[in-house]
Amino acid sequence: MNEEERGTYLDFLRGRRAEILERLAAACVRSGRRADDVLLLGVSKTVGIDEVALAWEAGYRAFGENRPQELKRKLSACATSPKLADVRFDMIGNLQTNKVNMVIGNVSLIHSVSSTHLAEAISKRSVARGIRSRVLLEVNVSGEESKSGFTPDGATTALDALLSLPGIDVRGLMTMAPRDDPDAARRTFSGLRELRDALRGSHGLPLDVLSCGMSDDFESAVEEGSTLVRLGRTVFDPSYAMG
Ligand SMILES: *Cc1c(COP(=O)(O)O)cnc(C)c1O
Repeated sequence: MNEEERGTYLDFLRGRRAEILERLAAACVRSGRRADDVLLLGVSKTVGIDEVALAWEAGYRAFGENRPQELKRKLSACATSPKLADVRFDMIGNLQTNKVNMVIGNVSLIHSVSSTHLAEAISKRSVARGIRSRVLLEVNVSGEESKSGFTPDGATTALDALLSLPGIDVRGLMTMAPRDDPDAARRTFSGLRELRDALRGSHGLPLDVLSCGMSDDFESAVEEGSTLVRLGRTVFDPSYAMG
């Protein structure tokens, strides 16, 4: 990007951010919560480091990536920029056990722990590095075959074993809603919250983080209890029209 393009893109990011924050705040009011109860994660998987730096300038502080390789690339670029040195990145996408080492220690939160096998791999490698990784359990609430994650019953059954793993700290739950079906999306979000409430009751854990809501459905996610929305297109893509 040249200087002029940067300026135009920064203006877009700022304007869009103001609109997103306004909608988030309104959804928080509707669900009886405070606006700062919800973290806005900018999903930067489709943009480069220039765009991330401009988003930081526009006020974003936390980003999400879905590929370990790209995460690493962005983190090394950020490390050379004093301004971006303490930027937060989360891992939000499918993680294979052989890529765990690229991710642990580099992210604030891993949203996509979709199996006991993966949780064990993260725990083992975290212990080897002397760290404890904060994770969310990805739950396939909607039951779509295309989606990964624990079934709600599977998460309930697996939780005891997951809690005994020394290298992970289970902070909450994450889900992906069906696309293009607002009612099904809302049921998915309320289902995630109900599962969280049930697990709180049975295991006495806070499970404070509910990661759900993307560009098309973040307002209903917040109304249903989301504490962390993952927004890609609406943050970064000028051609994305907010509904
Ligand atoms: C891409 C992605 C998002 C963001 O989706 P948008 O519809 O662009 O907001 C959120 N979560 C995950 C896991 C993703 O892969």
